[in-house]
Amino acid sequence: MKRFVEGEDRRQGVLLPECLDDFVAEENQVRVIEAFVDELDLTALGFDGITPAATGRPSYHPSVLLKIYIYGYINQIASSRRLEREARRNVELMWLTGRLAPDFKTIADFRKDNGPAIRATCRRFVEMCRRLNLFAHAVAAIDGSKFKAVNARDKNFTRAKLQKRMEQVEASIERYLSALETADRQEGELAEAKSARLKDKIASLRDQMRKFKAIEVAVDAAPDKQISLTDPDARSMATSGKGTGVVGYNVQAAVDTQHHLIVAHEVTNIGNDRSQLSTMAKGAQAAMGVRELTAIADRGYFKSEEILACEAAGVAPLVPKPLTSGAKADGRFGKQDFVYDPGEDVYRCPGGQTLTWRHSNVEEGLTLHCYGTTKCTACALKSKCTLSRERRVKRWEHEAVLDAMQERLDRAPETMRIRRQTAEHPFGTIKAWMGATHFLTRTLEKVRTEMSLHVLAYNLKRMTAILGVQPMIQAVRAA
Ligand code: SF4
Repeated sequence: MKRFVEGEDRRQGVLLPECLDDFVAEENQVRVIEAFVDELDLTALGFDGITPAATGRPSYHPSVLLKIYIYGYINQIASSRRLEREARRNVELMWLTGRLAPDFKTIADFRKDNGPAIRATCRRFVEMCRRLNLFAHAVAAIDGSKFKAVNARDKNFTRAKLQKRMEQVEASIERYLSALETADRQEGELAEAKSARLKDKIASLRDQMRKFKAIEVAVDAAPDKQISLTDPDARSMATSGKGTGVVGYNVQAAVDTQHHLIVAHEVTNIGNDRSQLSTMAKGAQAAMGVRELTAIADRGYFKSEEILACEAAGVAPLVPKPLTSGAKADGRFGKQDFVYDPGEDVYRCPGGQTLTWRHSNVEEGLTLHCYGTTKCTACALKSKCTLSRERRVKRWEHEAVLDAMQERLDRAPETMRIRRQTAEHPFGTIKAWMGATHFLTRTLEKVRTEMSLHVLAYNLKRMTAILGVQPMIQAVRAA
């Protein structure tokens, strides 16, 4: 006999009432969230409202709201209104909260008022991973990614953008004025109506021009000559696609290469990664609890001072040098074609000559030694080497650090593949969870809190996938 699986009649009474726990399997991830939050010392982490007020309406314990948020961020429900709805209808959330369903304002206020504590909870999870000895490899990949802010591109102004838009408005005013002149020379009802319409348009464009002038003053007064009207901390940033950009934040993450856990993260509104290497590497070193760390990053992080700062802190950076040699681009020898001899402190050029030290100077805060030879004028390769009378090669006083790094990179050609596979994984996952949308909160402080929730959710889900639910619960209780 052919048949389907039959559901129960919803009006059928059940003899033995089922309990909520029956709906949540032993392998359900919410059990990990429950165990993790229950093991936290919320007072030490700095959460508000641990002690209930003696008077007034009873409040929700912070652990309930923290569980709701962790569950929400793991399940792509970051909005407080959607979390309120889910708390009323989602069996897993009912199990997690004991059927408590705070209103969206209470949920939103918790995130708003407990930023530092939420960020400390995220760090606490990484500490727990460290105690479980998950960071034995001591290798971290550092990367940055741009995330959209709650700020449309039209509501972000730089001098150049403003200038362009003012020119557009001026051109429109000119066009309407000449149309108005033509309309004024015509007679009849139609011409009058047209003239009135054009006057309205001109008035509204002039009004817009006044607003742009006021914005121009604000842009000039801003330290970085840029303002965002909806989220004042958001900044216009270029992204990897040519000619594309977002108004948003630059999220930095250090990811351990063994388990792909985010060990340290930071949100900045600086559009490039050049000054982030040592901060992120030291953050990863502290979070992983290692004295010596290998930090891998892409060319965007190459900055001599940052690499030196890493070395001083016990971090061995692996960052390829950007290919920015002007001479090489013009088809002439680049600096990489000259070989340095540290024993004699000279360079050997492609023409077989020796370039010796000539003088030193300071450029952009870096002490540079200049090397040269008098043999260039008679050299057969001169046209491939320099347009000047003699070729000069500059060397930073700490360039040995950069040479040692390049040697390490040459010995480990798979490094950049490891970096890509490691650092881009969490960003890809978190962005897929966020969908096509952006951060939900505004200003740097709140965005930092939101990112910590994303990172905590990612790490918790990743760890559960690695260990399994029950071993993870035991690990959380033991750590
Ligand atoms: S031009 Fe000068 S530095 Fe260049 S290859 Fe000839 S000798 Fe060497």
